[in-house]
Amino acid sequence: MSQQSFTLSPFIAGFWRLDSWQQSPQQTLALIEHYLSLGVTCMDHADIYGEYSCENLFGRALALKPSLRQQMQIVTKCGIKPAFASTPDRYINYYDTSYQHILSSVDNSLRALQVEEIDLLLIHRPDPLMNADEVAQAFEQLYQTGKVKHFGVSNFTPSQFDLLQSRLERPLVTNQLEISPMQLSALHDGTLDHCQQYRCPPMAWSCLGGGGIFTGSSAQAIRLRETLTQIAKAHDTDDISQIIYAWVLALPSQPKPIIGSGNLDRISAAVTSKQIVLDKQEWFSIWQASTGHSVP
Ligand code: NAP
Repeated sequence: MSQQSFTLSPFIAGFWRLDSWQQSPQQTLALIEHYLSLGVTCMDHADIYGEYSCENLFGRALALKPSLRQQMQIVTKCGIKPAFASTPDRYINYYDTSYQHILSSVDNSLRALQVEEIDLLLIHRPDPLMNADEVAQAFEQLYQTGKVKHFGVSNFTPSQFDLLQSRLERPLVTNQLEISPMQLSALHDGTLDHCQQYRCPPMAWSCLGGGGIFTGSSAQAIRLRETLTQIAKAHDTDDISQIIYAWVLALPSQPKPIIGSGNLDRISAAVTSKQIVLDKQEWFSIWQASTGHSVP
């Protein structure tokens, strides 16, 4: 079965760090409008981002211009229960993919975002206590009540994805995964093969290693910066983030990178990187800089 019943924009706007940007609602609105002007229409959230504050900050900005809602798709996630200072009933981080928690988390997200429906809901992390029948029941209830239009997962292995899919009426439309020159696991453990097999494009998180690719002092980060800088020169840019995005976009599973920056110029540069095509030797030079060795 093809999983393509929902089209993700080629790049996605990530709002994990929104609370750290200290923006006024007007500034967040300008950020949203900047994204939309670049064709970045999918807005990625999670209930827990910013200790449950980021969806609220986004909703407050969107409320200044509600007509923008029609131009975007809102993605959010549930299933993690962190032990935040604001959640004193929790003494440990844990997962909860119960029917009750999924439903109440979506109600909270709708309220915080000030919208009537979520376009895409993801289970944030695989939960060893996940009962696939119970998740399916929650998804069906959310679909039938018009609260969520599409469903997906994040950080799932192929077998975890298949298990949940086997209980669902509708296709899971994505697996949101960490994909970066600093994190190659999904390229080699079968996860991206599975995305390609089912034509289910992954959403790619932390493509820039959460910024660590620019600042990291590990041997891997240093090797990557050197190699990326050389390749960037050959493509007439001094912005290595563009080469990183081009490297991710070259993957045949067609990942959609989630941009994590709050800087308008960096966001524009990220989207322009779709024009950069790396040849195979450039692509494998980055792979080699990541692993520290040549392909066998
Ligand atoms: P990222 O793009 O790897 O990292 C963004 C960070 O890199 C920002 O702090 C940004 O700072 C910094 N940065 C960007 N360009 C830079 C440069 N040229 N020099 C120095 N620093 C630079 O992405 P991410 O924020 O880690 O993740 C992206 C999105 O993925 C999140 O917003 C969230 O939506 C999603 N996510 C999902 C999961 C999951 O489990 N599903 C996990 C993590 C993240 P500036 O703002 O100053 O540019």
